[in-house]
Amino acid sequence: MKAAPFAYERPASLDAAIALMAEAKGVAKIMAGGQSLGPMLNLRLVQPDLIIDITGLGELKHAERSGDELVIGACVTHGDIEDGRIPDVTHNAMRRVAGGIAYRAVRNRGTIGGSLSHADPAADWVSVLPALGAKIRLRSSAGHRDLAIEDFMTGALESALQENELVEAVRVPVMRASARWGYVKACRKPGEFAHAIAAVLIDPEATTGRVVIGAIEAPPIVLTDASPLFGGKITGNFKREFVASAADALLIKAGIANAVDRHIHIAILRRAIDEAAA
Ligand SMILES: Cc1cc2nc3c(=O)[nH]c(=O)nc-3n(C[C@H](O)[C@H](O)[C@H](O)COP(=O)(O)OP(=O)(O)OC[C@H]3O[C@@H](n4cnc5c(N)ncnc54)[C@H](O)[C@@H]3O)c2cc1C
Repeated sequence: MKAAPFAYERPASLDAAIALMAEAKGVAKIMAGGQSLGPMLNLRLVQPDLIIDITGLGELKHAERSGDELVIGACVTHGDIEDGRIPDVTHNAMRRVAGGIAYRAVRNRGTIGGSLSHADPAADWVSVLPALGAKIRLRSSAGHRDLAIEDFMTGALESALQENELVEAVRVPVMRASARWGYVKACRKPGEFAHAIAAVLIDPEATTGRVVIGAIEAPPIVLTDASPLFGGKITGNFKREFVASAADALLIKAGIANAVDRHIHIAILRRAIDEAAA
């Protein structure tokens, strides 16, 4: 199928893009890498009146360190991260994740902002960034607002983005030297969307831990304090102290009734914990 007719604008600045969104008559859609929007247009699952192409906006392709965080523009691609074209503040964790997204042609165009906006529960960044403690900056003609990523995704393919609002940047905190990272996803074939994801950031020195269980057809389960999964306290023995039944209870609460599905999620979580402990 072919897309229904739409008007197309390629603004020269972020302010111009925001003005176009605010003034648009009918439905306006942002286009970033087009890796999800393109198929949705062609299948006529979305039929916007106006496409605002933000891929030419240098302000959104930039990444720079600001104090204790890295600010990554929404149009930075998975390929940019994979290739190390942005500063590394996560001891290579983001680079490794980026290299495992789909295949290179998709990574060349798909963006971090587009991935978050699309809010596919099986996508990588929607699980990885809450584990890293990242925040998202949203912009509209009314100004900007910052949200914790775990508050951004509200459902499968649903986010807190309001009409006329776009994702401007993602802010990733610098990972402490003592932090341990594990990330594992289960895919039927390499390059496919995952059917189970686990991301683990544990800092035994600071006795803190964040755990995300993703690809559950709903927003990921985000534990900003993961100690209940480790007997109530994060220690250097976190691998041995992992309580699988506590993870199972979380999955049941999230509505995953099938015991086999829960078993797969727990096995993947255990592998991510093992990776963090290694
Ligand atoms: C074959 C294939 C395999 C894939 N496999 C994986 C995978 O394994 N893991 C994974 O994580 N992803 C995967 N993806 C998704 C891909 O990585 C892209 O991240 C994703 O398609 C969206 O990014 P994009 O930049 O292309 O956004 P687009 O397709 O341009 O936009 C997607 C949606 O987000 C909106 N949008 C885009 N940018 C913004 C913004 N800055 N502000 C507000 N709204 C915005 C658009 O309006 C649209 O609704 C796959 C895609 C394909 C085609």
